[in-house]
Amino acid sequence: MRIVSLAGGIGGARFLRGLLSAAPDSEITVIGNTGDDITLYGLQICPDLDTVMYTLGGGIDEEQGWGRQKESHVVKEELAAYGMEPQWFGLGDRDIATHIVRTQMLAAGYPLSAVTEALCARWQPGVRLIPMSDDRTETHVVVSDERGRRAIHFQEWWVRLRASVPAEQIILVGADAARPAPGVLQAIADADVVILPPSNPVVSIGTILQIKGVREALEPKTVVGVSPIVGGAPVRGMADACLRAVGVESSAQAVLELYGSPLIDGWLVAEEDAGVRLDGVRVEARPLIMYDAESAAAIARAALTLARDLAASRNTGPQSAFRMGDAG
Ligand code: GDP
Ligand code: CA
Repeated sequence: MRIVSLAGGIGGARFLRGLLSAAPDSEITVIGNTGDDITLYGLQICPDLDTVMYTLGGGIDEEQGWGRQKESHVVKEELAAYGMEPQWFGLGDRDIATHIVRTQMLAAGYPLSAVTEALCARWQPGVRLIPMSDDRTETHVVVSDERGRRAIHFQEWWVRLRASVPAEQIILVGADAARPAPGVLQAIADADVVILPPSNPVVSIGTILQIKGVREALEPKTVVGVSPIVGGAPVRGMADACLRAVGVESSAQAVLELYGSPLIDGWLVAEEDAGVRLDGVRVEARPLIMYDAESAAAIARAALTLARDLAASRNTGPQSAFRMGDAG
């Protein structure tokens, strides 16, 4: 079976680890968010791609959920001793090596998709990881503070300010010009099912959906999403602050409506959110907390079973003759 998944960082990566163990014989293509990317000290940093790569490749700091295990921070301390800014971004020594390789390859003219493939040759994540675009995009957040109304990089809002200043607007700079990376639209076209992990619906999945052609390519596919919101709050992190910025309530119902039908065909919610409904969408309630690899795998199995059922009922439906091409 060919599966396509869109992913941000922690929520995406942990779910994908479950998906790999739930569907070991599948061909999984992951389209990664690059809106969080930032250039610091001349280094090109792709936090979400790296979180997926390290998590699936066995190099992640499990407790923190991002960055490398057994990490040290000597370079960061030395930069601080020179008074170099910013000092709020966590840059570990082992992690820096990844950013050096990436920056050097980009400077030599390789597109980010080729660089990501090269980095994955070391980590062997077990999935094909493609950045959403080779074109540079950056998520910026409009805030008002003592310096007035201004746009800051998403990482400054998220990491330095801990999303404590209200986001008035969240903008993906470069979205209009960004084309999907090579392989993105083809992987979606070839997919038997598409699974949306419980990644941030605004700045992870929402960002990928802004890349030209991606949403349109997904709509005719069988797409099952896993709610990142459980009982009215994000399971981890500050996704509620992002949802507020786009005028969406933090609930499994509101996130489903944000994605909408015809994009979503199946939606997994937590048991306390069992009342969620939307026309054209099959909603199922399951335990949705990823405590460990096994609970993540159980969620992935539920998502896959739902997706397979939905895909099968499409293929045997009254219009099956017109759907044969989708069967894969
Ligand atoms: P980030 O880029 O590191 O912020 O990670 P993602 O965008 O991939 O995922 C963040 C989202 O994952 C947040 O909205 C969380 O609510 C969600 N999340 C994290 N852990 C869990 C979990 O155990 N279960 C569910 N359902 N969602 C989770
Ligand atoms: Ca992220």
